[in-house]
Amino acid sequence: QPKSQPAWAAQRNFATEPKANAGVDKHEFQAETRQLLDIVARSLYSDHEVFVRELISNASDALEKFRYTALSNTDESQLAAKDRTLEIRITTDKPMMQLIIEDSGIGMTREELISNLGTIARSGSKQFMEQLKEQAQSSQATSNIIGQFGVGFYSAFIVANRVEVYTRAAASDAIGLRWSTDGSGSYEIEQVEDVQHGTKIVLHLKPECREYADEDRIRAVIKKYSNFVGSPILLNGKQA
Ligand code: ADP
Ligand code: MG
Repeated sequence: QPKSQPAWAAQRNFATEPKANAGVDKHEFQAETRQLLDIVARSLYSDHEVFVRELISNASDALEKFRYTALSNTDESQLAAKDRTLEIRITTDKPMMQLIIEDSGIGMTREELISNLGTIARSGSKQFMEQLKEQAQSSQATSNIIGQFGVGFYSAFIVANRVEVYTRAAASDAIGLRWSTDGSGSYEIEQVEDVQHGTKIVLHLKPECREYADEDRIRAVIKKYSNFVGSPILLNGKQA
C-alpha cells in the first residue's frame, strides 16, 4: 500500500471490495450452527438417506405455505405466479455428481435465508445440540442423537460437500437469490437472475455418496418416504 494514498482511494476502499466479488455477501455461520455442521459432515451416521426425507419434507412444507398464502391473500398484485404448478421436482445428474431438489413453494427472502439457514432456530436442531453437550461425544452417541432428533436442512451435509440454494420468495417484487456454502465457517448470498419462484437445492455430492446421483437409487428412497407428501414428486421429469 503506498503511503501517500489519495483520500478518494481510501474512501472507495478497493481492498475490501474486489470487483470479482461485487454483489456477493459473505456471512459467518452462527457458532452453534458451525458446530452442528461440522458434526453432521464428519459423522459416521449410517442412515445417510434420511437427508432425502428432510429435504422433501421442507419442499412439501414450502408448498403448503404457498397454498395457504395464496388462499389467504386476496390482493392479486402482491403474489407472483399464483396459478403456478405446485410440485416437487428432483433431478439426478450422474456425470456432475449432483442431486437437485426443487419446489415451487413459498421461497425465501434474503432475511429468511439468513435466519432459517444460517442459525439454528428450529427446535429439533436445538434439542440435538443440547443432547450433544450432555452426552459423551463418541461417534456412536452422536449418530444416535442425529437419528433421534434429526438435523433438518443440515442433513444435506451428510452427503454433500457443497450446497447451493436458489430461491425466490412469493411476493411479486421478490428477487432471485443464491445461497452457497461448503459447510465450513461461512456462506455466501448473492442476487442472481432467472430464478423461479420457490426453492432449488443443488447438492454437490461427496465422492463416497455418488450413489445419490443415481436415478434408481433415488427412486427407491423417495418411495420409502413419499407416502406423507401432499404434492406430486417428479423424478427426472416423470412421476416418481
Ligand atoms: P424445520 O423444517 O423443522 O423448520 P429445517 O432445518 O428442515 O427445519 O429447515 C429450516 C427452515 O428453513 C425451515 O423452517 C424453512 O423456513 C426454511 N426452508 C428449508 N427448506 C425450504 C424450502 N424448500 N423452501 C422454503 N423454506 C425452506
Ligand atoms: Mg424440515
